[in-house]
Amino acid sequence: MEIFSTIKETRDCLINLKKEGKTIGFVPTMGALHRGHISLLEQAKKENDISVSSIFVNPTQFNDKKDLEKYPRTIEDDILKLKAAHCDVLFAPGVEEMYPSTLVKEPEIDLGNLGKVMEGKLRPGHFQGVCTVVKKLFDIVLPNKAYFGEKDFQQLAVIKYMVRILNIPVEIIPCPTFREADGLAMSSRNVFLNPDERKNVPLIYKTMMEAKLLNTNKTISELKKWVEEKVNENPFLKLEYFEIVNSETLQLITDTHLPITGCRACIAVKVGTIRLIDNIAL
Ligand code: AMP
Repeated sequence: MEIFSTIKETRDCLINLKKEGKTIGFVPTMGALHRGHISLLEQAKKENDISVSSIFVNPTQFNDKKDLEKYPRTIEDDILKLKAAHCDVLFAPGVEEMYPSTLVKEPEIDLGNLGKVMEGKLRPGHFQGVCTVVKKLFDIVLPNKAYFGEKDFQQLAVIKYMVRILNIPVEIIPCPTFREADGLAMSSRNVFLNPDERKNVPLIYKTMMEAKLLNTNKTISELKKWVEEKVNENPFLKLEYFEIVNSETLQLITDTHLPITGCRACIAVKVGTIRLIDNIAL
């Protein structure tokens, strides 16, 4: 695996490969890699000649400075995992390389409703930061296809929208959420859960799956209330939101005939100081 920390080396290497007619599959990450990340890489390897991953803890997408400071950084271990998965190229820049000037304000993209609901509402500026870094990474890596997890469903919708409105010639490939055996969605933040919290968090996925079954005989507000009670009766969990949304526009669905199909149920739960998000298809 080639490892680069500068934009120039990465671009030179990848431009040469593209000139040879090779296709590039790209998996952007913030590191602290787990099997969910590796499943994206495996799909990229299957569908492209060259697999590229990036590791960059992007400061502009953190609305909470403490969250940025304590975000897990395990680069040595990540490199071993990427090598074991036969990743061809890793781009792992420092902050200065990606944001050389703090004076230049990055242009904002009007995300409309996509940026206003759920994570957009609770984490102001988060998706602008995501768009900024993903656009920069696409300009450096020049991928044919880029792989994003459904685990971060709103992020996936935002990236698909950005690519469409800016005419970025990259195909966005959604990848299914990789889960632990007990249903917990894998996340870099799971390492912060203490043993008691870890024992209780599978309730998040379990509650959503049960809500899916109740989808036929309740109104949406009854369903939301049921989820809220179910999550909050566990002393380790505090519901931030449970929403049913249109899978493309993320419009909140508040009033319709049940059962609801073709939509997404999205949840955010606080576990101590940690926030976990998850979602399922309805
Ligand atoms: P992150 O490092 O958390 O920014 O995630 C990098 C990419 O991996 C994003 O596209 C995430 O949606 C995806 N990802 C994170 N966790 C999972 C998971 N459990 N299953 C599938 N994809 C995931």
